[in-house]
Amino acid sequence: CADATAQLRRSTEMTRLLLIGAPGAGKGTQAEKLAIAFDIPAISTGDIFRHNVKNETELGKQAKAFMDRGEYVPDSLTNDLVRDRLSQADAKDGFLLDGYPRTADQVVELDEILSANGTALDVVVQLTADTDEVVRRLLNRALEQGRADDTEDVIRRRLEVYEEQTAPLINVYAARDLVVTVDGLGEVSEVTGRILEALAARGITAK
Ligand code: AMP
Repeated sequence: CADATAQLRRSTEMTRLLLIGAPGAGKGTQAEKLAIAFDIPAISTGDIFRHNVKNETELGKQAKAFMDRGEYVPDSLTNDLVRDRLSQADAKDGFLLDGYPRTADQVVELDEILSANGTALDVVVQLTADTDEVVRRLLNRALEQGRADDTEDVIRRRLEVYEEQTAPLINVYAARDLVVTVDGLGEVSEVTGRILEALAARGITAK
């Protein structure tokens, strides 16, 4: 039966996950937990960009102006970065993408990268949180981490850009029946538990 087939596939193949949700929904925190649970690399384009900005690389110099304004870094730069990262050995057997794809073009690009490798996404986890809560979390993170893009004006712009460009992607993946929606409010461990449960219901279990 289909369930048993899915189960068998799971045990022989690795997990390819994508986390999608508004800034401040808790993607980064949950990505770390899931990466450990599934023994796969968490690949965060935001982290990679921040690393490049910090080290003043050419990519970092180009990305910084967009990030500081809460705008998306152009697809041309972002897609190359992800293509390169997914070609590395540790991502061959599975990965968790956090913060990519964020635009319709990036969805197409990711499809191409994966299909060229004969693979596809297993599941897309949508993490939800209401706007007041995400603004509160982001302002709090600004105090704790001092991220340049966590000022109130930039936070508002990032949420707008998310609604305009990224939220519609959920429908694209839902049409492929890949989306599980999980409430991102609550204790970190509680939310991780909800995600693991939702994945298990689809036959995707941690090692
Ligand atoms: P994040 O840490 O995921 O919130 O990303 C921080 C910033 O990095 C975003 O506001 C964008 O400027 C940039 N960024 C991260 N991922 C992407 C992406 N997939 N496409 C375009 N820009 C991105």
